[in-house]
Amino acid sequence: MPPLPPLRALSTTLLAGVLALTPVATACGTADSPAGRTTPSDRRVLAITVDGLNPRALTRLGEQGAPTLHRLLAEGASTTNARTERERTMTLPNHTGMVTGRRIAATRRGHGVAWNSHRPGTTVQHAAGHEVASIFSVVDAAGGESAVFTGKEKFSLFPRSWPTAVDRFRLDEDPLALVRAARRDLVHHDRAFTLLHLATPDVVGHDHGFMSSRYLAAVARTDRLLAKVVRAVERDAELGEELVVLLTSDHGGQGTGHSDPTSRANYRVPFLAWGAGIAPADLYDLNPDYRDPGRRRTSYAGPQPVRNGDVANLAARLLDLEPVPGSRFGRATPLDVVR
Ligand SMILES: [Zn+2]
Repeated sequence: MPPLPPLRALSTTLLAGVLALTPVATACGTADSPAGRTTPSDRRVLAITVDGLNPRALTRLGEQGAPTLHRLLAEGASTTNARTERERTMTLPNHTGMVTGRRIAATRRGHGVAWNSHRPGTTVQHAAGHEVASIFSVVDAAGGESAVFTGKEKFSLFPRSWPTAVDRFRLDEDPLALVRAARRDLVHHDRAFTLLHLATPDVVGHDHGFMSSRYLAAVARTDRLLAKVVRAVERDAELGEELVVLLTSDHGGQGTGHSDPTSRANYRVPFLAWGAGIAPADLYDLNPDYRDPGRRRTSYAGPQPVRNGDVANLAARLLDLEPVPGSRFGRATPLDVVR
């Protein structure tokens, strides 16, 4: 499997050497690597999750109704046939999978976060019964910074679980305010990893039905928020050169819920990488060691589908960091997003 090409002049071999000697990481400055970089790589990753994005909404809305999502899928390395965690199609279990690269069942080396509510005082480590690393802790160990922007209070699980590694946590139920805050943070800070969670489609889906006209309108509104992020990336030369956007969802939805993990409407999600150095491609074409599951619900045995849980190790790899310790997804067979 080809390694990711380095973004600038530094070779991945040199970066690996620098990683092994983290105390001298700041000494890796070259003519085109500005001082004060917080990770050995110049790359940065923004993981966007659209809560409850049933890929059928993209078909129904078409390019006119969801131009940004269609554009990111077309310009990026993408699929609309990725999978959630097998065990549960709920928000917190799936987002915890995305940041840890683990399945859910704690008895099977999963992260153990099977609940989907705000539980103050709990941590992922408590759920698992042992230490659990995340993309936040891996970035932190390399001297980088992370931020979380979310529309749901239960995401406070992440700064509680990795308190020194999540450098900024912003909760705002107003999606426009949230996106503006995230956009400012992207432009003015040099975080290696940012998680932006957009909750509206899920909230409207529960109230009015997933795939209802009001749900589709909520996806269209979310598309316009995504356009603001994309414009900010395009207007900022540094972000344009450095940022890779990953976009996926925690689950789909049908009727007024998404709790049945055996339903395709719930377990099928989009997954894409777009931005610096990423060319248009189908993720299953790029990754012959992954398997397009067709319409099937998947297990954790044998060749894997692209999963939302691939976010953690794909982000780590894009940042030239080691895989997340204890993780599973995209570890033995890393997910390639470039040829
Ligand atoms: Zn929901």
